[in-house]
Amino acid sequence: MSDIETLFTRARLPDGSSKDIGVADGRIVSLELTGAPVSASRVIDLQGALVVPGFVEGHIHLDTSFYGDTWIPHKPCTDGFDVHERVAFQAQNMAQAAPMDVRAKNQLELCIANGSTHMRSHVMVDGSVGLKSLETILAVREEYRGLIDIQLVAFPQSGILKSPGTPELLDEAIAMGADLVGGLDPASFDRDIEKHLDVVFGVAEKRGVGVDIHLHDGGTLGLFTIEQICARTRALSMGGHVAISHAYGLGDLLVDVAKRAAGLIAESGVSIMTNAPGAHAFPPVALLRSAGVTVFSGSDNIRDSWWPYGDGDMLGRAMMIGYRSGFHTDDELKAAFDVVTESGAKALRLDSYGLRLGAKADFVTLQAEHVPEAVVAVPKGRSVFKAGKLVARDGIVLRD
Ligand SMILES: [Zn+2]
Repeated sequence: MSDIETLFTRARLPDGSSKDIGVADGRIVSLELTGAPVSASRVIDLQGALVVPGFVEGHIHLDTSFYGDTWIPHKPCTDGFDVHERVAFQAQNMAQAAPMDVRAKNQLELCIANGSTHMRSHVMVDGSVGLKSLETILAVREEYRGLIDIQLVAFPQSGILKSPGTPELLDEAIAMGADLVGGLDPASFDRDIEKHLDVVFGVAEKRGVGVDIHLHDGGTLGLFTIEQICARTRALSMGGHVAISHAYGLGDLLVDVAKRAAGLIAESGVSIMTNAPGAHAFPPVALLRSAGVTVFSGSDNIRDSWWPYGDGDMLGRAMMIGYRSGFHTDDELKAAFDVVTESGAKALRLDSYGLRLGAKADFVTLQAEHVPEAVVAVPKGRSVFKAGKLVARDGIVLRD
């Protein structure tokens, strides 16, 4: 065992036990019952606070939020929800917003202060913005290294086939440092599922990276697209490396059809991201989890051109998932919590995550009796530790 640099005493873990957490080189190197003789250079008394792993913010848009900028009123679509029109509104709004790096940092600080220690952000890469947004967000990521780990998805917000040059840009984005290839409604946006997926999975295969596709299409069109994504995933042996974000269609299906779909998704190793979106149909979280599907979550849009909501709090997101899913029992509330912690870590393929020996010492203290209470009460007054270092307290990000 390495010499312990910091011993966090009297941590109440989710299983109810009181432990002392020893940290060295940013990792958990001892986990003993409180009071066991352990010597350390420094001791921090957590005073019986509930200690949980850092939250996994699995889907956010760092480039398009106006959080911390002037309020931009939401503009409804002319005739029902239309992705094309929303993308056009977004371009107009972005043209008058504060610089992207300032807005991205505002949003990052919000997420870190609330306890997210890992994040996956989609960043626009398409014919309209080229690689400019990615360049900006890559620099922001570098600046926040040590405070939060960030994966970036090259996201074709204007479509792939509809936006000339996008296939090449997606490939270049990965070479520049993006971690995954994104996609957007292959059927309704680009009107060609197979050609759209040819590009997404083509770049992923060539570059050896994962895939995370935005899929808003509902009903049988959404289900058919999911089946095609699952087929590609299996054909390329990419199980565990592919996610479908939103997958609204899963919320429109009869139970028997949804169960069959869940079996296929689980067998293919495709993860499903839901943010429990407003009044919209959304994936049946309990049904998917019981079939073995990894369901994770994220804030998605915060104060942007898509909707005005969002607070960067993944514990609050767990509450929303539980609330909208009709979760009441302790086990169900724990499941909602798992979506924003362990399942998020699995979907993002984070190694060394969790409160266990050898894992990175990324954790959050909560003023709650236990996890079910934390999910319904969403207590603030948190301390956030990244690699054993205090990075935020009471909603404020701290720096050396
Ligand atoms: Zn999104």
